[in-house]
Amino acid sequence: MSTAYLYDPIYLQHFQHDHVEGPERLEHIQRALDVSRMRERLIELKPQPITLERLTRVHHADYVTQVKRAADRGGGGLMGRGDETYVAPKSYEAALLAAGAVVTGMQAVLRGEVTNAFALVRPPGHHAFTDHGEGFCLFNNVAIAANVARSDFGLDRVLIVDFDVHHGNGTNSIFYDDPSVLFFSTHQWGIYPGTGHWSEIGDGAGVGYSVNVPVLPGWGDAALIAIFDQLLDPIARRFKPQLILCSAGYDPHWSDRLGGLLMTDQGFFDLTQRLVQLSNDLCDGKLVLTLEGGYGLDGLAYGVVASFGALLGDRAFDDPIGPPRRTPRDIEAGYLDQLRALHGLPAC
Ligand SMILES: [Zn+2]
Repeated sequence: MSTAYLYDPIYLQHFQHDHVEGPERLEHIQRALDVSRMRERLIELKPQPITLERLTRVHHADYVTQVKRAADRGGGGLMGRGDETYVAPKSYEAALLAAGAVVTGMQAVLRGEVTNAFALVRPPGHHAFTDHGEGFCLFNNVAIAANVARSDFGLDRVLIVDFDVHHGNGTNSIFYDDPSVLFFSTHQWGIYPGTGHWSEIGDGAGVGYSVNVPVLPGWGDAALIAIFDQLLDPIARRFKPQLILCSAGYDPHWSDRLGGLLMTDQGFFDLTQRLVQLSNDLCDGKLVLTLEGGYGLDGLAYGVVASFGALLGDRAFDDPIGPPRRTPRDIEAGYLDQLRALHGLPAC
């Protein structure tokens, strides 16, 4: 089993003063990979920038031009979309290499050069729509990779799992009517972006291929693991993906500034282990993670280390951050059975 990571220093140049989505996130991850001696167990792959042809299969050319022009002008907020999603002078270049990293890692996995891969990128992607960016995201990295897997590698079924604390609204929208890409998302209900109700199950031919699982503030590892075991597992086995992509966001961690969940880094190890198991059982281990959110720097950095341990097949993870001071709430009785029924599965 071999695990690759992808990183480029250009990601640090996507920067706006005092913004929560800043380069220190990746710097912390880099340090944790060294301190934990995880880096020496990994294969480093150099990301190639996404080509315009591949980029514009997912994003409108006008929007891509808008991002490039904003960067060329010296940066600023994206017009008409508030200022939370910024463009710095090097952001266009960084965004091309962020999407490109996921695709480079995925190509290595699909060609059998490595077992699995994790793209450590910024800007993140899962809130980016075809025609606009939002929620700190410029281009939808995971969606672009899924499109390349379908169009260039001829895969018929790609599973995207998104465990970021925020709903991957961009990804959800891009594949909402597409039965070839099954989107499964867990996200905290009641925070940005406000979408991802369980009743959002897809449209047209895509009905049943969007699985949205809102979770409530105060839920922790046990709830998320139950959702993966009782909902994701049977749905993935029924779908039989040829590749699993994962929008890995570490903002469900209890220390996070933006989320209200109580997950631990041990929990991220457990969730990633389940994705490894599913990929081993269903698609020869073909699994590619891409970094989305995560704003509690230590929780983020060691969450990424935990995921790498699981990707490498480690049996256990020693969580240096530990559990929250508050005890997580139990998942509401009957909630999972209701969702299982909605998605055509028998009660547990
Ligand atoms: Zn997030």
